[in-house]
Amino acid sequence: MSQDKPASDFRYDTGEARVPWAAVGEHLANEDLMRIIRFLVRPQAGKEAEYEARAASVEAALAELWEVSGPATKLSLGATVSKLEAEAKEFLGCKYACFLTNATAGFEIALKYANIGPGDEVIVPGISFISTMTYALQSGAKVVFADLDPNTINMDPADVARKVTDKTKAIVPVYIGGYAPDMDAIMEIAEARDIVVLADAAHAFGGKYKGKAAGTVAHFGSYSFHEVKNINALGEGGLLVTDLDFGQYFPQCRFLGVDMAKQVENWLYDVIAVPGKYGPFVAGNHSSTEIQALCLLGQMQRLQAVIDTRRANAEYLNERFSEVEGIIPAPLDTDEIKGTYHLYLLRVDHELIGQDVQVLKQKLEARGVVQIPHFAPLYKYQLCRDLGYDSDAIAATCPNTEMVFNHQFTHLPLYPLSQQQLEYMADAVIEAVEEMKAGK
Ligand SMILES: *Cc1c(COP(=O)(O)O)cnc(C)c1O
Repeated sequence: MSQDKPASDFRYDTGEARVPWAAVGEHLANEDLMRIIRFLVRPQAGKEAEYEARAASVEAALAELWEVSGPATKLSLGATVSKLEAEAKEFLGCKYACFLTNATAGFEIALKYANIGPGDEVIVPGISFISTMTYALQSGAKVVFADLDPNTINMDPADVARKVTDKTKAIVPVYIGGYAPDMDAIMEIAEARDIVVLADAAHAFGGKYKGKAAGTVAHFGSYSFHEVKNINALGEGGLLVTDLDFGQYFPQCRFLGVDMAKQVENWLYDVIAVPGKYGPFVAGNHSSTEIQALCLLGQMQRLQAVIDTRRANAEYLNERFSEVEGIIPAPLDTDEIKGTYHLYLLRVDHELIGQDVQVLKQKLEARGVVQIPHFAPLYKYQLCRDLGYDSDAIAATCPNTEMVFNHQFTHLPLYPLSQQQLEYMADAVIEAVEEMKAGK
């Protein structure tokens, strides 16, 4: 196999072929591009006529551009994806990085490396997004739920230590809201037992843990660039990273056991079962596009500014809430942990206030304040009940998870809000909490 060949615009080196093989079937035409521009750059209400006039001039300018241009000859897994991966590796300081369809695909690859399946156990935190546990469930492994540190709602290593068994093959800590869990303690438990640690770093791109990039402390880290995250890859995208030698197989993990960056010499021999930790596994197809990578490369340039704005918003909220007894301040940056401020963790002292966060949520909703509702105890999802998990029995083993979910926390958005919106949100929370304290 020609290992050193750079990514080519063509999967097959057609050389002097009289009938070349093109990587792209139908090329993008001007009308396709205009449809994309009209989708991404939408008319403002009341400005439709002006929009049409300007869109027509853009279309004419594009037609002129075509006169001196040719179409892209590679749309999937080419030089732009490679460039993104190179830049991400440098930014994160890790050995291997693989751009994927989404973070969930990264979880699948890392857990396939651990060869999880029936009879194995995978420990996840009590609260996260469903995708933290889906591949483990899919594989037939048993998912075990660790309790949380109520201050961060991240996985509590002490409970991981209690729940780890000889069957535990993987631990999946989550950087919820982009704030690091106690990774050193989790790694210590895992390394003593040769357990694979996969960080769900979906929120954590650009964060830090003890001087290292968030998501690079565990054996694997998987970041999300879905549209709701701090930066995105045209709506969907993920990046899996590792320092393990296994990272050399990332290209094969991404595309059905074949490395598409190299020339495939013989399809019968170059398609492999990927060597996992305990045995070979079959790779799926998680390929992403050049355009997604291009979008992400651009947004990466603005990442620090994005995080700075979000941090300033979180600091403002903490300052406002510090005046109010009963609101617990959200964790901000420390010497060791730098967050990405993907979400604001709003917690109340329900005992002091005399009412639950459930009442606060209703009061905020009535005031038009958006909250992010999909971070809930994973064992309460119908999915787990359908698979025979006993939600009540598990709840009894996760007292902090139950306490913070039922009584204490919700998530507020931190994305670029206008100063008025931010102030309105702070006012609304303070008013609502004061009402609750007054027994209203
Ligand atoms: C968004 C998210 C994911 C999934 O990311 P995808 O890129 O959509 O697969 C996983 N975990 C958490 C905590 C998330 O918020």
